Amino acid sequence: MIDRQVYYFDNNATTRVAPEVVEAMISSLRDGWGNPSSAYSFGAQAARQIDHARAQVATLIGADPKEVVFTSCGTESNNAVLQSALATQPGKRHIVTTAVEHSAIIKHCEFLQKQGVEVTFVPVDADGLLDLHLLDQSIRPDTALVSVMWANNETGMVFPIEEIAAICQSHNVPFHTDATQVPGKMKIDVRALGVDFLTLSAHKLHAPKGVGMLYVRRHAKFQPYIIGGHQERGKRGGTENTASIIGFGCAAELAQAHLEDENTRVRALRDRLESTILRTIPNTIRTGAKEPRLPNTSNIAFDFVEAEGILMALDQLGICASSGSACTTGSLNPSHVLTAMGIKPARAKGCVRFSLGIYNTEQEVDYVLKHLPEVIAHLRQAVPRPTPKPGKHTAKLPAHAG
Ligand code: PLP
Repeated sequence: MIDRQVYYFDNNATTRVAPEVVEAMISSLRDGWGNPSSAYSFGAQAARQIDHARAQVATLIGADPKEVVFTSCGTESNNAVLQSALATQPGKRHIVTTAVEHSAIIKHCEFLQKQGVEVTFVPVDADGLLDLHLLDQSIRPDTALVSVMWANNETGMVFPIEEIAAICQSHNVPFHTDATQVPGKMKIDVRALGVDFLTLSAHKLHAPKGVGMLYVRRHAKFQPYIIGGHQERGKRGGTENTASIIGFGCAAELAQAHLEDENTRVRALRDRLESTILRTIPNTIRTGAKEPRLPNTSNIAFDFVEAEGILMALDQLGICASSGSACTTGSLNPSHVLTAMGIKPARAKGCVRFSLGIYNTEQEVDYVLKHLPEVIAHLRQAVPRPTPKPGKHTAKLPAHAG
């Protein structure tokens, strides 16, 4: 247990489990622990609760409950959809994705490449945005799947999923989007989007870790990834993680209610944090375009200092932030997302992601703004840095740089 106050600015890594979710789960763990597949009424009671959660999650994304497949996490959903696309279309051995996907897509695609599958990683520009013409051109007659994330976990950049779905439809190629970072921040309507598959992960929306979801559009070809029992209408074997699924359902309802707060109050907190840092701390720059972006995410490069040092110093102050995706923290390589945006390693290594959430307050932002300038100044003083040629470095920074 942490016995000091935590200033949590890492909501893209995971989120606090909402008290309502904890409550919903406790009664399942304590009293409703029957196996949902059992024929007697004690088991059937658990099955009914899962059905209720399925309806709640379906409502969040505008789907039919029968199109919701519960999995163990976002990673499993992403892996499952890639494997299924290849298994159900044996003649097709090509996948189109982007250079900035989460490792749950990128690493699995690299694994598939070793098995002879061809993968096109569509690049992004310096703002982190996609060239849709290039994406369109990348689709081939043997393309089994296009998989493009909706919102980037490191920069918050939002891709135009509806337009990409239309491109895929024009080629008659199935389309998957990893929407893990989206719930509670943007409205999700799978029908309006026109996607065939969509991934969510419960722990990004104030539910527990270890439960996720794959939306599988009705009539879309799908081959289960985890093969075993008949659970999830035969689409995912394994006894259901009942309590967590119930928590996920509860959190899905809360996420609908959080949309407004995320897009007004949380957005304003993020904007104040970001603009004050850029204005008051010299040699800082936001990575990625200002819009279209998630309302909660800010990724900032602090030149002449390494993110690891910043994060350690912030940790001493009880502040949690991240140097990119949690999965790459600790590795010495700069993030693949920032590298794909053409950010040089020296700058990428100084990038810190602040991702806010519904539990952040004005006072917490004040606390970060009070301490961060000292932290950066101290680290810059401690580490000798190359002297920039007079006027050269600052001239390169865009107008919003501090
Ligand atoms: N996709 C994105 C965009 C993510 O941000 C994450 C988690 O960071 C995942 C997938 C993986 O989700 P999980 O942690 O549930 O495996």
